[in-house]
Amino acid sequence: MSSLGVGRTEQLSTMGSDVESKDGKLPNTSEDDLRELEEAYAALRDESQQLINERTTLEAEVRTLRKRIERLDENVNLLKMPPLIVGHIQDVLDHERAIVRSSNGTVFQVSLNQRLDPDALKPGTRVALNQDSLSVIEVLHEAWDPMVSGAEMVEKPTISYDDVAGLDEQVESVREAIELPLTKPELFEKVGIVPPKGVLLVGPPGCGKTLLAKAVANHTDATFIRMVGSELAQKYIGEGGRMVRELFSLAKEKSPSIIFLDEIDAIGAKRLDGSTSGDREVQRTLMQLLAELDGFDVLNDVKIIAATNRPDILDDALLRPGRFDRVIKIPIPDDASRKAILSVHLASMNTKKISIGRIVERTKGFSGADLKATCVEAGMITIRAGRSVVTQQDILDAVSRLDKKRSQGTTQRSPEALYS
Ligand code: ATP
Repeated sequence: MSSLGVGRTEQLSTMGSDVESKDGKLPNTSEDDLRELEEAYAALRDESQQLINERTTLEAEVRTLRKRIERLDENVNLLKMPPLIVGHIQDVLDHERAIVRSSNGTVFQVSLNQRLDPDALKPGTRVALNQDSLSVIEVLHEAWDPMVSGAEMVEKPTISYDDVAGLDEQVESVREAIELPLTKPELFEKVGIVPPKGVLLVGPPGCGKTLLAKAVANHTDATFIRMVGSELAQKYIGEGGRMVRELFSLAKEKSPSIIFLDEIDAIGAKRLDGSTSGDREVQRTLMQLLAELDGFDVLNDVKIIAATNRPDILDDALLRPGRFDRVIKIPIPDDASRKAILSVHLASMNTKKISIGRIVERTKGFSGADLKATCVEAGMITIRAGRSVVTQQDILDAVSRLDKKRSQGTTQRSPEALYS
Protein backbone atom coordinates (compact mmCIF):
# COMPACT_ATOMS: atom_id res chain seq x y z
CA MET A 1 0.00 0.00 0.00
CA SER A 2 1.29 3.50 -0.78
CA SER A 3 2.28 5.94 2.02
CA LEU A 4 -0.43 8.26 0.73
CA GLY A 5 -3.07 5.66 1.51
CA VAL A 6 -1.77 5.10 5.07
CA GLY A 7 -1.81 8.90 5.74
CA ARG A 8 -5.43 9.22 4.63
CA THR A 9 -6.60 6.31 6.79
CA GLU A 10 -4.88 7.79 9.85
CA GLN A 11 -6.42 11.18 9.12
CA LEU A 12 -9.91 9.64 8.84
CA SER A 13 -9.58 7.61 12.02
CA THR A 14 -8.37 10.70 14.00
CA MET A 15 -11.25 12.74 12.65
CA GLY A 16 -13.65 9.97 13.55
CA SER A 17 -12.34 9.80 17.17
CA ASP A 18 -12.63 13.61 17.48
CA VAL A 19 -16.29 13.68 16.50
CA GLU A 20 -17.52 10.45 18.03
CA SER A 21 -19.36 10.82 21.37
CA LYS A 22 -19.42 8.28 24.22
CA ASP A 23 -22.65 6.60 23.08
CA GLY A 24 -21.29 6.15 19.53
CA LYS A 25 -23.46 8.81 17.91
CA LEU A 26 -22.24 11.94 16.13
CA PRO A 27 -24.21 14.64 18.04
CA ASN A 28 -22.14 17.74 17.32
CA THR A 29 -21.00 16.98 13.79
CA SER A 30 -20.72 20.22 12.02
CA GLU A 31 -21.29 20.68 8.34
CA ASP A 32 -17.58 21.34 7.83
CA ASP A 33 -16.57 18.11 9.48
CA LEU A 34 -18.97 16.16 7.31
CA ARG A 35 -17.65 17.78 4.18
CA GLU A 36 -14.11 17.07 5.26
CA LEU A 37 -14.99 13.44 5.88
CA GLU A 38 -16.62 13.12 2.48
CA GLU A 39 -13.60 14.65 0.77
CA ALA A 40 -11.26 12.32 2.61
CA TYR A 41 -13.46 9.37 1.65
CA ALA A 42 -13.47 10.38 -2.02
CA ALA A 43 -9.70 10.79 -1.97
CA LEU A 44 -9.31 7.34 -0.43
CA ARG A 45 -11.58 5.83 -3.03
CA ASP A 46 -9.47 7.35 -5.82
CA GLU A 47 -6.34 6.06 -4.16
CA SER A 48 -7.75 2.56 -3.82
CA GLN A 49 -8.73 2.56 -7.52
CA GLN A 50 -5.23 3.71 -8.40
CA LEU A 51 -3.77 0.90 -6.29
CA ILE A 52 -6.04 -1.66 -7.97
CA ASN A 53 -4.82 -0.48 -11.38
CA GLU A 54 -1.21 -0.63 -10.20
CA ARG A 55 -1.75 -4.17 -9.00
CA THR A 56 -3.31 -5.29 -12.31
CA THR A 57 -0.36 -3.87 -14.24
CA LEU A 58 2.13 -5.58 -11.94
CA GLU A 59 0.27 -8.89 -12.18
CA ALA A 60 0.36 -8.69 -15.99
CA GLU A 61 4.07 -7.94 -15.85
CA VAL A 62 4.65 -10.96 -13.60
CA ARG A 63 2.73 -13.18 -16.01
CA THR A 64 4.89 -11.99 -18.96
CA LEU A 65 8.06 -12.56 -16.98
CA ARG A 66 6.91 -16.05 -15.96
CA LYS A 67 6.27 -16.94 -19.61
CA ARG A 68 9.71 -15.66 -20.52
CA ILE A 69 11.26 -17.80 -17.81
CA GLU A 70 9.40 -20.84 -19.16
CA ARG A 71 10.66 -20.14 -22.67
CA LEU A 72 14.23 -19.66 -21.48
CA ASP A 73 13.97 -22.87 -19.43
CA GLU A 74 12.82 -24.69 -22.56
CA ASN A 75 15.77 -23.26 -24.51
CA VAL A 76 18.19 -24.33 -21.79
CA ASN A 77 16.68 -27.83 -21.80
CA LEU A 78 16.96 -27.99 -25.58
CA LEU A 79 20.60 -26.94 -25.42
CA LYS A 80 21.28 -29.55 -22.75
CA MET A 81 19.50 -32.31 -24.69
CA PRO A 82 21.78 -35.00 -26.18
CA PRO A 83 21.85 -34.94 -30.01
CA LEU A 84 19.40 -37.11 -31.92
CA ILE A 85 20.63 -39.74 -34.35
CA VAL A 86 19.50 -39.49 -37.96
CA GLY A 87 18.25 -42.69 -39.55
CA HIS A 88 15.78 -44.09 -42.05
CA ILE A 89 12.69 -46.19 -41.49
CA GLN A 90 13.05 -49.62 -43.08
CA ASP A 91 9.73 -51.11 -42.14
CA VAL A 92 6.73 -50.10 -40.00
CA LEU A 93 5.65 -53.19 -37.99
CA ASP A 94 2.54 -51.71 -36.36
CA HIS A 95 1.44 -48.35 -34.97
CA GLU A 96 3.89 -48.67 -32.07
CA ARG A 97 6.99 -50.31 -33.54
CA ALA A 98 9.23 -49.87 -36.57
CA ILE A 99 12.52 -51.12 -37.94
CA VAL A 100 15.02 -48.32 -38.48
CA ARG A 101 18.49 -48.10 -39.94
CA SER A 102 20.67 -45.57 -38.17
CA SER A 103 23.16 -43.46 -40.13
CA ASN A 104 26.02 -45.85 -39.31
CA GLY A 105 24.14 -48.68 -40.98
CA THR A 106 22.97 -50.72 -37.96
CA VAL A 107 19.37 -51.91 -37.98
CA PHE A 108 17.14 -51.77 -34.87
CA GLN A 109 13.56 -52.45 -33.88
CA VAL A 110 12.36 -49.34 -32.03
CA SER A 111 9.20 -47.77 -30.69
CA LEU A 112 7.42 -44.91 -32.39
CA ASN A 113 6.42 -41.58 -30.90
CA GLN A 114 2.63 -41.86 -30.62
CA ARG A 115 2.17 -38.20 -31.42
CA LEU A 116 3.66 -38.64 -34.91
CA ASP A 117 1.36 -38.83 -37.88
CA PRO A 118 1.29 -42.54 -38.90
CA ASP A 119 0.88 -41.56 -42.56
CA ALA A 120 4.25 -39.76 -42.45
CA LEU A 121 6.01 -42.94 -41.34
CA LYS A 122 6.81 -44.91 -44.46
CA PRO A 123 9.80 -47.08 -45.39
CA GLY A 124 12.58 -44.76 -46.49
CA THR A 125 11.45 -41.75 -44.41
CA ARG A 126 14.28 -39.83 -42.74
CA VAL A 127 13.76 -39.67 -38.98
CA ALA A 128 15.47 -38.45 -35.80
CA LEU A 129 16.10 -41.14 -33.18
CA ASN A 130 16.71 -40.84 -29.45
CA GLN A 131 20.33 -41.58 -28.67
CA ASP A 132 19.65 -44.08 -25.88
CA SER A 133 16.41 -45.82 -26.83
CA LEU A 134 16.63 -45.10 -30.59
CA SER A 135 12.88 -44.52 -30.56
CA VAL A 136 11.59 -42.36 -33.36
CA ILE A 137 11.22 -38.80 -32.06
CA GLU A 138 10.65 -36.75 -35.17
CA VAL A 139 10.04 -37.12 -38.89
CA LEU A 140 12.59 -35.15 -40.91
CA HIS A 141 12.03 -33.84 -44.39
CA GLU A 142 14.05 -35.42 -47.18
CA ALA A 143 17.37 -33.73 -47.80
CA TRP A 144 20.16 -34.44 -50.20
CA ASP A 145 23.78 -34.36 -49.39
CA PRO A 146 24.97 -30.77 -50.00
CA MET A 147 27.53 -32.16 -52.44
CA VAL A 148 24.74 -33.82 -54.44
CA SER A 149 22.32 -30.90 -54.34
CA GLY A 150 25.20 -28.54 -55.19
CA ALA A 151 25.87 -30.61 -58.30
CA GLU A 152 22.66 -29.38 -59.90
CA MET A 153 23.54 -26.59 -62.29
CA VAL A 154 20.95 -23.92 -61.75
CA GLU A 155 22.07 -21.85 -64.70
CA LYS A 156 21.99 -23.50 -68.05
CA PRO A 157 25.34 -23.79 -69.83
CA THR A 158 25.56 -21.40 -72.75
CA ILE A 159 27.50 -23.82 -74.99
CA SER A 160 25.75 -24.73 -78.24
CA TYR A 161 26.48 -27.54 -80.67
CA ASP A 162 28.19 -24.98 -82.93
CA ASP A 163 30.82 -24.43 -80.23
CA VAL A 164 31.76 -28.11 -80.35
CA ALA A 165 33.94 -28.22 -83.42
CA GLY A 166 35.18 -31.20 -85.38
CA LEU A 167 33.01 -33.73 -83.55
CA ASP A 168 30.00 -33.89 -85.86
CA GLU A 169 29.62 -37.65 -85.74
CA GLN A 170 29.93 -37.75 -81.96
CA VAL A 171 27.45 -34.88 -81.55
CA GLU A 172 24.97 -36.80 -83.70
CA SER A 173 25.41 -39.98 -81.63
CA VAL A 174 24.91 -38.15 -78.33
CA ARG A 175 21.87 -36.29 -79.63
CA GLU A 176 20.27 -39.56 -80.73
CA ALA A 177 20.95 -41.28 -77.44
CA ILE A 178 20.24 -38.46 -75.00
CA GLU A 179 18.36 -35.60 -76.59
CA LEU A 180 15.90 -37.56 -78.74
CA PRO A 181 14.51 -39.80 -75.93
CA LEU A 182 13.98 -36.66 -73.82
CA THR A 183 12.38 -34.53 -76.51
CA LYS A 184 10.55 -37.20 -78.57
CA PRO A 185 9.99 -40.31 -76.42
CA GLU A 186 6.99 -41.25 -78.57
CA LEU A 187 9.32 -42.12 -81.49
CA PHE A 188 10.86 -44.91 -79.43
CA GLU A 189 7.47 -46.13 -78.22
CA LYS A 190 6.16 -46.29 -81.80
CA VAL A 191 9.12 -48.30 -83.04
CA GLY A 192 8.98 -50.44 -79.93
CA ILE A 193 12.57 -50.06 -78.77
CA VAL A 194 13.96 -49.00 -75.43
CA PRO A 195 16.05 -45.82 -75.69
CA PRO A 196 19.59 -45.92 -74.29
CA LYS A 197 19.98 -45.01 -70.64
CA GLY A 198 23.16 -43.17 -71.23
CA VAL A 199 26.38 -42.77 -73.13
CA LEU A 200 30.00 -43.06 -72.15
CA LEU A 201 32.38 -40.53 -73.68
CA VAL A 202 35.95 -41.76 -73.83
CA GLY A 203 38.97 -39.85 -75.00
CA PRO A 204 42.10 -37.97 -74.01
CA PRO A 205 41.85 -34.90 -71.74
CA GLY A 206 40.77 -31.63 -73.27
CA CYS A 207 39.12 -33.00 -76.41
CA GLY A 208 35.61 -31.75 -75.72
CA LYS A 209 33.82 -34.34 -73.57
CA THR A 210 32.58 -31.81 -71.02
CA LEU A 211 31.86 -29.34 -73.80
CA LEU A 212 29.64 -31.87 -75.57
CA ALA A 213 27.71 -32.71 -72.38
CA LYS A 214 27.13 -29.00 -71.74
CA ALA A 215 25.85 -28.50 -75.29
CA VAL A 216 23.30 -31.32 -74.80
CA ALA A 217 22.16 -29.71 -71.54
CA ASN A 218 21.73 -26.39 -73.32
CA HIS A 219 19.65 -27.90 -76.11
CA THR A 220 17.18 -29.74 -73.87
CA ASP A 221 15.02 -28.39 -71.08
CA ALA A 222 16.47 -30.99 -68.76
CA THR A 223 18.03 -30.25 -65.37
CA PHE A 224 21.77 -30.69 -65.67
CA ILE A 225 23.45 -32.39 -62.72
CA ARG A 226 27.23 -32.55 -62.86
CA MET A 227 29.19 -34.77 -60.53
CA VAL A 228 32.85 -35.75 -60.66
CA GLY A 229 33.56 -39.42 -59.95
CA SER A 230 36.16 -38.62 -57.32
CA GLU A 231 33.53 -36.77 -55.26
CA LEU A 232 31.64 -40.04 -54.96
CA ALA A 233 34.69 -41.90 -53.68
CA GLN A 234 34.16 -41.32 -49.95
CA LYS A 235 36.06 -42.11 -46.80
CA TYR A 236 33.36 -43.75 -44.69
CA ILE A 237 31.63 -47.02 -45.34
CA GLY A 238 28.32 -46.60 -47.15
CA GLU A 239 28.78 -42.87 -47.79
CA GLY A 240 29.60 -43.19 -51.51
CA GLY A 241 26.66 -45.55 -52.06
CA ARG A 242 24.35 -43.17 -50.24
CA MET A 243 25.53 -40.28 -52.42
CA VAL A 244 24.92 -42.29 -55.59
CA ARG A 245 21.40 -43.09 -54.34
CA GLU A 246 20.76 -39.44 -53.53
CA LEU A 247 22.17 -38.36 -56.90
CA PHE A 248 19.67 -40.55 -58.74
CA SER A 249 16.84 -39.60 -56.41
CA LEU A 250 17.56 -35.89 -57.08
CA ALA A 251 17.68 -36.59 -60.82
CA LYS A 252 14.33 -38.41 -60.67
CA GLU A 253 12.70 -35.62 -58.73
CA LYS A 254 14.02 -32.96 -61.09
CA SER A 255 13.34 -35.00 -64.22
CA PRO A 256 13.69 -34.57 -67.12
CA SER A 257 17.33 -34.48 -66.17
CA ILE A 258 20.79 -35.34 -67.39
CA ILE A 259 23.43 -36.62 -64.98
CA PHE A 260 26.92 -35.83 -66.20
CA LEU A 261 29.36 -38.11 -64.40
CA ASP A 262 32.85 -36.87 -65.18
CA GLU A 263 35.95 -39.00 -64.43
CA ILE A 264 33.83 -42.08 -63.90
CA ASP A 265 37.04 -44.15 -63.66
CA ALA A 266 37.43 -42.82 -60.07
CA ILE A 267 34.65 -45.19 -59.00
CA GLY A 268 34.30 -47.40 -62.06
CA ALA A 269 37.71 -49.09 -62.07
CA LYS A 270 37.97 -52.86 -62.43
CA ARG A 271 37.27 -54.73 -59.21
CA LEU A 272 40.25 -56.69 -57.99
CA ASP A 273 40.52 -59.46 -55.38
CA GLY A 274 43.38 -58.26 -53.21
CA SER A 275 42.02 -54.83 -52.33
CA THR A 276 42.25 -52.51 -49.33
CA SER A 277 39.24 -51.35 -47.30
CA GLY A 278 39.31 -48.04 -49.22
CA ASP A 279 39.10 -49.94 -52.52
CA ARG A 280 36.22 -51.98 -51.18
CA GLU A 281 34.28 -48.82 -50.32
CA VAL A 282 34.86 -47.54 -53.89
CA GLN A 283 33.65 -50.92 -55.19
CA ARG A 284 30.51 -50.66 -53.07
CA THR A 285 29.90 -47.22 -54.61
CA LEU A 286 30.29 -48.73 -58.08
CA MET A 287 27.86 -51.52 -57.19
CA GLN A 288 25.31 -48.92 -56.07
CA LEU A 289 25.83 -47.09 -59.38
CA LEU A 290 25.23 -50.33 -61.31
CA ALA A 291 22.12 -51.02 -59.23
CA GLU A 292 20.77 -47.52 -59.93
CA LEU A 293 21.52 -47.90 -63.65
CA ASP A 294 19.62 -51.18 -63.71
CA GLY A 295 16.89 -49.97 -61.43
CA PHE A 296 15.43 -46.84 -62.91
CA ASP A 297 12.75 -46.94 -65.50
CA VAL A 298 14.30 -46.17 -68.86
CA LEU A 299 11.59 -43.82 -69.98
CA ASN A 300 11.45 -41.77 -66.82
CA ASP A 301 13.46 -38.93 -68.26
CA VAL A 302 16.78 -39.44 -66.51
CA LYS A 303 19.76 -39.77 -68.86
CA ILE A 304 23.37 -40.25 -68.00
CA ILE A 305 26.46 -39.02 -69.77
CA ALA A 306 29.64 -40.40 -68.26
CA ALA A 307 33.14 -39.41 -69.31
CA THR A 308 36.56 -40.89 -68.76
CA ASN A 309 40.16 -40.55 -69.92
CA ARG A 310 40.88 -44.15 -68.92
CA PRO A 311 38.46 -46.55 -70.60
CA ASP A 312 41.09 -49.29 -70.27
CA ILE A 313 40.63 -49.52 -66.50
CA LEU A 314 36.81 -49.44 -66.47
CA ASP A 315 34.95 -52.41 -65.02
CA ASP A 316 33.32 -54.55 -67.71
CA ALA A 317 30.02 -54.46 -65.81
CA LEU A 318 29.68 -50.75 -66.60
CA LEU A 319 30.16 -51.33 -70.30
CA ARG A 320 27.71 -54.12 -70.82
CA PRO A 321 24.65 -53.30 -72.95
CA GLY A 322 21.79 -51.97 -70.86
CA ARG A 323 24.03 -49.70 -68.82
CA PHE A 324 26.16 -47.42 -70.93
CA ASP A 325 24.68 -48.55 -74.21
CA ARG A 326 26.85 -46.33 -76.32
CA VAL A 327 30.55 -45.79 -75.97
CA ILE A 328 31.45 -42.69 -77.96
CA LYS A 329 35.11 -42.04 -78.72
CA ILE A 330 36.27 -38.44 -78.63
CA PRO A 331 39.70 -38.67 -80.24
CA ILE A 332 42.61 -36.26 -80.48
CA PRO A 333 41.47 -33.96 -83.31
CA ASP A 334 42.70 -34.74 -86.82
CA ASP A 335 43.61 -32.05 -89.37
CA ALA A 336 40.02 -31.25 -90.29
CA SER A 337 38.88 -31.15 -86.66
CA ARG A 338 41.80 -28.92 -85.65
CA LYS A 339 40.85 -26.55 -88.43
CA ALA A 340 37.26 -26.47 -87.18
CA ILE A 341 38.30 -25.96 -83.54
CA LEU A 342 40.73 -23.17 -84.46
CA SER A 343 38.03 -21.48 -86.53
CA VAL A 344 35.66 -21.53 -83.54
CA HIS A 345 38.20 -19.98 -81.18
CA LEU A 346 39.66 -17.49 -83.68
CA ALA A 347 36.19 -16.31 -84.71
CA SER A 348 35.83 -14.17 -81.58
CA MET A 349 39.36 -12.73 -81.85
CA ASN A 350 40.54 -9.60 -83.62
CA THR A 351 42.77 -11.20 -86.30
CA LYS A 352 44.38 -10.18 -89.61
CA LYS A 353 45.40 -12.37 -92.57
CA ILE A 354 45.45 -15.70 -90.80
CA SER A 355 46.21 -18.86 -92.77
CA ILE A 356 44.59 -21.58 -90.68
CA GLY A 357 46.10 -24.27 -92.95
CA ARG A 358 49.64 -23.50 -91.76
CA ILE A 359 48.61 -23.47 -88.10
CA VAL A 360 46.85 -26.80 -88.56
CA GLU A 361 50.07 -28.29 -89.97
CA ARG A 362 52.06 -27.07 -86.99
CA THR A 363 49.63 -28.34 -84.31
CA LYS A 364 49.61 -32.09 -84.91
CA GLY A 365 48.74 -33.92 -81.67
CA PHE A 366 47.23 -30.83 -80.04
CA SER A 367 43.98 -31.41 -78.13
CA GLY A 368 41.03 -28.99 -78.30
CA ALA A 369 42.16 -27.49 -74.99
CA ASP A 370 45.71 -27.04 -76.36
CA LEU A 371 44.32 -25.25 -79.39
CA LYS A 372 42.27 -22.95 -77.19
CA ALA A 373 45.37 -22.29 -75.06
CA THR A 374 47.30 -21.46 -78.27
CA CYS A 375 44.73 -18.83 -79.21
CA VAL A 376 44.82 -17.31 -75.70
CA GLU A 377 48.63 -17.29 -75.75
CA ALA A 378 48.63 -15.57 -79.18
CA GLY A 379 46.34 -12.91 -77.73
CA MET A 380 48.73 -12.42 -74.81
CA ILE A 381 51.68 -12.03 -77.17
CA THR A 382 49.73 -9.38 -79.09
CA ILE A 383 48.89 -7.45 -75.92
CA ARG A 384 52.49 -7.61 -74.72
CA ALA A 385 53.61 -6.12 -78.06
CA GLY A 386 51.18 -3.21 -77.55
CA ARG A 387 48.95 -4.18 -80.48
CA SER A 388 45.29 -5.04 -80.69
CA VAL A 389 45.25 -7.22 -83.82
CA VAL A 390 46.50 -10.80 -83.65
CA THR A 391 48.74 -11.77 -86.58
CA GLN A 392 49.74 -15.10 -88.12
CA GLN A 393 53.18 -14.75 -86.53
CA ASP A 394 51.66 -14.28 -83.04
CA ILE A 395 49.82 -17.55 -83.43
CA LEU A 396 52.88 -19.39 -84.72
CA ASP A 397 54.90 -18.05 -81.76
CA ALA A 398 52.16 -19.25 -79.42
CA VAL A 399 52.25 -22.69 -81.07
CA SER A 400 56.04 -22.86 -80.49
CA ARG A 401 55.60 -21.90 -76.83
CA LEU A 402 52.92 -24.52 -76.27
CA ASP A 403 54.97 -27.13 -78.11
CA LYS A 404 57.91 -26.35 -75.83
CA LYS A 405 55.77 -26.64 -72.72
CA ARG A 406 54.31 -29.91 -73.97
CA SER A 407 57.74 -31.40 -74.67
CA GLN A 408 58.82 -30.35 -71.15
CA GLY A 409 55.87 -32.32 -69.86
CA THR A 410 53.82 -29.39 -68.53
CA THR A 411 51.10 -30.39 -70.95
CA GLN A 412 51.25 -34.12 -71.45
CA ARG A 413 50.73 -35.60 -74.89
CA SER A 414 48.01 -38.16 -74.37
CA PRO A 415 48.66 -41.81 -75.13
CA GLU A 416 46.48 -42.06 -78.22
CA ALA A 417 46.81 -45.83 -78.26
CA LEU A 418 44.51 -45.96 -75.24
CA TYR A 419 41.57 -44.61 -77.16
CA SER A 420 42.02 -46.39 -80.46
P1 ATP B 1 38.85 -33.76 -69.32
O1 ATP B 1 38.84 -35.18 -69.71
O2 ATP B 1 40.21 -33.32 -68.86
O3 ATP B 1 37.75 -33.35 -68.43
P2 ATP B 1 37.41 -32.79 -71.60
O4 ATP B 1 37.53 -33.72 -72.76
O5 ATP B 1 36.18 -32.82 -70.82
O6 ATP B 1 38.69 -32.93 -70.67
P3 ATP B 1 36.72 -30.11 -72.19
O7 ATP B 1 36.59 -29.59 -70.80
O8 ATP B 1 35.48 -30.41 -72.91
O9 ATP B 1 37.68 -31.34 -72.18
O10 ATP B 1 37.58 -29.10 -73.05
C1 ATP B 1 38.40 -28.09 -72.49
C2 ATP B 1 38.36 -26.85 -73.34
O11 ATP B 1 38.99 -27.10 -74.59
C3 ATP B 1 36.96 -26.43 -73.69
O12 ATP B 1 36.45 -25.52 -72.75
C4 ATP B 1 37.09 -25.79 -75.06
O13 ATP B 1 37.40 -24.44 -74.92
C5 ATP B 1 38.27 -26.50 -75.66
N1 ATP B 1 37.84 -27.57 -76.58
C6 ATP B 1 38.09 -28.89 -76.46
N2 ATP B 1 37.55 -29.58 -77.46
C7 ATP B 1 36.94 -28.69 -78.26
C8 ATP B 1 36.18 -28.81 -79.46
N3 ATP B 1 35.97 -29.98 -80.06
N4 ATP B 1 35.69 -27.68 -80.00
C9 ATP B 1 35.90 -26.48 -79.44
N5 ATP B 1 36.59 -26.32 -78.29
C10 ATP B 1 37.11 -27.40 -77.70
